[in-house]
Amino acid sequence: MFRTGLGFDNHRLMAGRRLLLGGMEVPSPVGEDAHSDGDVLLHALCDALYGATGKGDIGEHFPDSDPRWKGQASRLFLEHALNAAREAGYRLVNVDATVFLEKVKLLEYKKKIAENIRAMVRPFWDLAEDAVNVKAKTAEGCDSVGRGEAIAAQVIVLLEKVRE
Ligand code: MG
Repeated sequence: MFRTGLGFDNHRLMAGRRLLLGGMEVPSPVGEDAHSDGDVLLHALCDALYGATGKGDIGEHFPDSDPRWKGQASRLFLEHALNAAREAGYRLVNVDATVFLEKVKLLEYKKKIAENIRAMVRPFWDLAEDAVNVKAKTAEGCDSVGRGEAIAAQVIVLLEKVRE
């Protein structure tokens, strides 16, 4: 049996914050403003994993009203979501992601970000190189992403049930 899950996240961008994507820092004059480290890509990936396994969303598991998660590395959230999927008897088949960002060009970082996600998943499952794909889009000058005020990410995952 297969399950899909869809995740979305966005954050305001501001000067003086690090831009984190898929657990790695991308050189940028602005970064995500957030209660945690603000890694939109990992937050969307967590929600995709929770969605596929019927386990709610990242806000339920790690509420931003809880001081324990202030400045928290999103890697911890991802480990929780991966572990929840494994405990439920699933294995991750593939991850397909899109990052929406206007001014910082991700062309030279997309493959590194995908590799970093594979490395974070590796303690759970060994994914093939082509099983994690990261795409980048601008918003063509429209909306808050297009004005350079925000960043967003969409992620879809496929999980396969491997044990009851
Ligand atoms: Mg978020």
